[in-house]
Amino acid sequence: MTNTPSSDEIHRLDREHVVHPWHAMDAWRGYDNMLVDTAEGIYLYDGAGRKFIDGPGGMWCVQIGYGRQEMADAIAAQAMKLPYASPFTNATEPAAILAQKLVAMTPGDLNNVFFTTGGSTAVDTALRAMHFMNNNLGRKDKKIILAREKGYHGSTYLAASVTGKERDVSRFDTARDLVHFLPDVNPYHRPDGMSVDDWCDAKVADLQNTIDTLGADKIGAFIAEPILCSGGVIVPPEGYHKRTFDICRANDILYISDEVVTGFGRLGHWFASYDEFGIEPDMITCAKGLTSGYMPLGACIISDTVMERMTSDDPVLFSNGYTYSAHPVSCAAALKNIEIMERENLLDHVKSVTPHFQKRLQDLRKYPIVGDVRGMGLLGCIEGRLSKDGSRLSDERRIGQMLDDACEEMGLLVRPLINMCVFSPPLTITIGEIDQMFDILERAVDLVGQQMI
Ligand code: PMP
Repeated sequence: MTNTPSSDEIHRLDREHVVHPWHAMDAWRGYDNMLVDTAEGIYLYDGAGRKFIDGPGGMWCVQIGYGRQEMADAIAAQAMKLPYASPFTNATEPAAILAQKLVAMTPGDLNNVFFTTGGSTAVDTALRAMHFMNNNLGRKDKKIILAREKGYHGSTYLAASVTGKERDVSRFDTARDLVHFLPDVNPYHRPDGMSVDDWCDAKVADLQNTIDTLGADKIGAFIAEPILCSGGVIVPPEGYHKRTFDICRANDILYISDEVVTGFGRLGHWFASYDEFGIEPDMITCAKGLTSGYMPLGACIISDTVMERMTSDDPVLFSNGYTYSAHPVSCAAALKNIEIMERENLLDHVKSVTPHFQKRLQDLRKYPIVGDVRGMGLLGCIEGRLSKDGSRLSDERRIGQMLDDACEEMGLLVRPLINMCVFSPPLTITIGEIDQMFDILERAVDLVGQQMI
């Protein structure tokens, strides 16, 4: 029988051997990441048994909360029945049923599901499908991808290349020759005195001017998150999505909606593109909440129109895919996750608790260190401002980390992002738990303010 290792031993092994994503390379081996041991509902417990509200919901993904026996049972049952089958040559029941479910949730002729291993591979698949399609149509120059500053689309080579967070790609080489970035859409960063409507006009004009300059015959796709989540929960101005979508359609530019975060109930809909913003993208990418994080899975949902344009009389393989595409156990987890969300009316629940969540968020504006708060559905962000004269915070000041530290002391985890912190709790969160969460956040904002100003 093996002994259970102590917390200290796990920390030592972690430090010595685990390479964590997104770690600063200056303090290599210097970190003591929180040891997460168990979880239940919206709570995580560390190695010492301390309890924390999981503000980020894992990484924007744990929709149904932790500790669901039914999920464990569904995963175990599928692992016993059929743990694996090559997706290249086999049909499986969980993948077929799940694909049918997903296309029923999406608008228009989005009837085709390409399963992937997560969000980055879903984005890669969408972008490669666009290139394949245009090569198939003989449009060899129509390849440029329009993306946006502050957008996040993943960490594979191509998904990272369309990621507009400069800090995340600064020491990497990326396929930048394929990509053109549109400037920041954050209304908070609009020039002083400019109305939000004028800002929207300016952002729509950024797209139109780019097309005029580069030429529609050179641009293959526009990729956009409905809300730029990792960029700081940036909600583009009202009307922006519909207007940019119409421009893409008018110029035969594929519109790829990256719903890796906004899908599966985060905004109270299965998908936000159509149900919230009224657009019918050519492709939708999703992952995360699809399985509530219980198993890894992603998908790129593709319209019939795109599929037809990828087809020819002289067929060439669409040689894109992964050993673990449509993994049966992951698909079984997704099906059970969706069943739970349906049975518990989680979409309606999100709609009903959202006003309280957003009100408590807006209430934080009264603190002097808060420059902006923004959010939608069960997504929120606090952007800091430090100076007394109201000028904006420089990036060096790590208000996000300070808030995170203060919240952690009081039993809440948030996700720090330089001068911001973001949160996206499990969708099962109750009004009482929202109050617990914001009571702690308020105390933390107040405390950090006293330390800083
Ligand atoms: N797109 C968006 C909008 C995301 O937020 C993320 C992950 N945060 C990804 C893609 C990449 O997903 P993954 O980490 O599963 O590869």
